[in-house]
Amino acid sequence: MARVYNFSAGPAVLPEEVLAEAASEMLDYQGSGMSVMEMSHRSKPFASIIETAEQDLRDLMGIPDNYRVLFLQGGASTQFAMIPMNLMRNKVADYVVSGSWSKKAWKEAKLYGDARCIANSDDENFSYVPDVKKLEISEDADYVYICQNETIYGTVYHELPDTQGKPLVADVSSCFLSEPVNVSDYGLIYGGVQKNVGPAGVTIVIIREDLISDDVFPGTPTMLRYDTHADAKSLYNTPPCYGIYLCGKVFKWLKAQGGLEAMKERNVEKAQLLYDYLDQSALFSGTARKEDRSIMNVPFVTGNDELDAKFVAEAKKAGIESIKGHRSVGGMRASIYNAMPREGVEALVAFMKQFEADNA
Ligand SMILES: *Cc1c(COP(=O)(O)O)cnc(C)c1O
Repeated sequence: MARVYNFSAGPAVLPEEVLAEAASEMLDYQGSGMSVMEMSHRSKPFASIIETAEQDLRDLMGIPDNYRVLFLQGGASTQFAMIPMNLMRNKVADYVVSGSWSKKAWKEAKLYGDARCIANSDDENFSYVPDVKKLEISEDADYVYICQNETIYGTVYHELPDTQGKPLVADVSSCFLSEPVNVSDYGLIYGGVQKNVGPAGVTIVIIREDLISDDVFPGTPTMLRYDTHADAKSLYNTPPCYGIYLCGKVFKWLKAQGGLEAMKERNVEKAQLLYDYLDQSALFSGTARKEDRSIMNVPFVTGNDELDAKFVAEAKKAGIESIKGHRSVGGMRASIYNAMPREGVEALVAFMKQFEADNA
């Protein structure tokens, strides 16, 4: 068996130990005589799987008791609608648009009320995070929305905006569990898990209890109401059982790695290897503004489309997979999530050095 170094932005690399353990339990989950895929979501073993997963996530992130954890479906994109449908009580919300994902969320929110773009980095192809120190927050805003790590452009907020008391809503899809967070700084944190946590099909929403109510946008479907899922403890209908089981295994893996402090340390080191090389390279350059660089997604270019294509093709032959950049930035993008080993980044940097020498 030959595993590649998978730099995909998502679905993305998962810890090998987790995959191996899941494989060993595929036919018979802990003496149940069946796979988790074949098991009732109302069964005892599954109740234990989802409860343990939630508790481990709470431990990892230090989630306070007044926050609920919801395991949902529909991807992060469904949250673009669910957030305004459930939280826009005054019909006003402020959005910081720092990339494609926050732009999509902002556009979707306009279907439900007055969604205002209060800062934008569109002018330089989203290569930076807008200044959020002196935002003009709308007095009647129900919440302030950010996408904390813009997966495509490789930018991250190093400082959260001052929301002047309004709940902060953050899409953390591509930085979920990459470093410690202070959950109390947010009203709602959410992400699709297929970037840094698990397989596609699960969306995790962490929401402060007082933001959950039955005062929702008229006609909101039952399945798109936070109170539905909070009241039923994520078991209103069949949840994405197997995905939740795998997320639970990743949570255990993260705990065994030393938790989020330790992950941050490793993630910063990995990213530094790549950025240090990029900063002195005569061929490659990073596309995100230095101060705003993500430690999860690293876009870079040669400035020559043909050379970029050659790089991607040759990298693939060297076992460096899915390194092609998103079309809106071009070039390459290395997504170096929690499960990407340091050796993977070292292999990438070594390959880049060789490529630079060969194409000087
Ligand atoms: C991938 C991604 C999304 C979209 O996720 P889906 O689960 O495909 O809907 C939203 N936000 C961010 C930051 C992402 O990286």
